[in-house]
Amino acid sequence: MDAFLPFSKPTIDEATIASVAEVLRSGWITSGPKVQEFEKQLSAYFGGRPVRTFNSGTCTMETALRIAGIGAGDEVITTPVSWVATANVILEAGATPVFADIDPVTRNIDLDKVEAAITKRTKAIIPVYLAGKPVDMDRLYAIATKHKLRVIEDAAQAIGSTWKGKPIGWFGDFVSFSFQANKNITTSEGGCLVLNNEEEANLAEKYRLQGVTRSGWDGIEVDVLGGKYNMTDIAAAIGLGQFAKLNDITAQRRKLARHYFATLGKDFEKQTGAQLPPKDFEMTNWHLFQIELPERITRSKFMEKMKAHNIGIGFHYAPIHLFKLYRARGFREGMFPVAERVGKQIVSLPMFYAMNESDVERTCMAMREVLAGA
Ligand SMILES: *Cc1c(COP(=O)(O)O)cnc(C)c1O
Repeated sequence: MDAFLPFSKPTIDEATIASVAEVLRSGWITSGPKVQEFEKQLSAYFGGRPVRTFNSGTCTMETALRIAGIGAGDEVITTPVSWVATANVILEAGATPVFADIDPVTRNIDLDKVEAAITKRTKAIIPVYLAGKPVDMDRLYAIATKHKLRVIEDAAQAIGSTWKGKPIGWFGDFVSFSFQANKNITTSEGGCLVLNNEEEANLAEKYRLQGVTRSGWDGIEVDVLGGKYNMTDIAAAIGLGQFAKLNDITAQRRKLARHYFATLGKDFEKQTGAQLPPKDFEMTNWHLFQIELPERITRSKFMEKMKAHNIGIGFHYAPIHLFKLYRARGFREGMFPVAERVGKQIVSLPMFYAMNESDVERTCMAMREVLAGA
């Protein structure tokens, strides 16, 4: 039998490993010159906008909400189909999460439903670019401008994705990325926040390190409450090595996605009842290759049968509003029917940089067999 094929796996090259060893030997292992260099390179990639790094993509969003002054009594609209962090940060800020159902084709938040969910208390929208696929950015910012809302883009999965030829993060309001281990580029754990101006960047620096500012030659001052969210130079060294390969990584993922479609053939959906993702080779970075299973097979059965073929299948995501924490706040089944249907049947097929076309073929063959037998 072929070796186990995971659904995701980071690739760290030898040069990156050497640069991490160099940091470890240098005597300076926390935030320092590597973090500064990483932020400088990210900022250049995002068209010169200020960028600050953090120790997770969750902290970046918490910080953006703080900078935007969002808290008790405020409503923030987001999608029910995401990693739970997306909604947890709203609760963490003391604000109220408001979900808007998703579009069945893109599986991203439905912008018509976002507009319908806006009230006098709405302060911000947190859209998620599931699998790296952006929402309609023109429409998103038209809604935000019209209703004077802040946008905190949860672009955790979208580094390398583009909109009209520009990288996600190059324009917009707050844009948050994650460098968690499974993301297209990683720092093991980490994230970065793209900000609008130096004033916001200064606040981001304070909130990520105990609210501390330098004052005079020998002193510090603390005037706001901050947390402990800074990235280490060890993580930044990994990030620099990964970032240098971003274009390669994105190109390889697009190639693998094309190969999935080509191998499955144009009648796959008709033959199996499964639903493929939209064919998008320009904008999406293909963080995930997700299909919706037909109703006749449960996700757990599918995962188990694929595992018997030595193929790992991911699951992104269970609808957030049905977790106990959210049910306790009044959310119920039936509120977001598209999210609930997709959340029940969605699976992520293997997709990572070091995969090759025969891995794709092997996955497609196993999947056809499993679906035919269901
Ligand atoms: C990974 C991820 C996050 C959280 O990022 P961390 O770095 O793990 O905190 C948030 N939202 C989405 C959509 C993600 O995929």
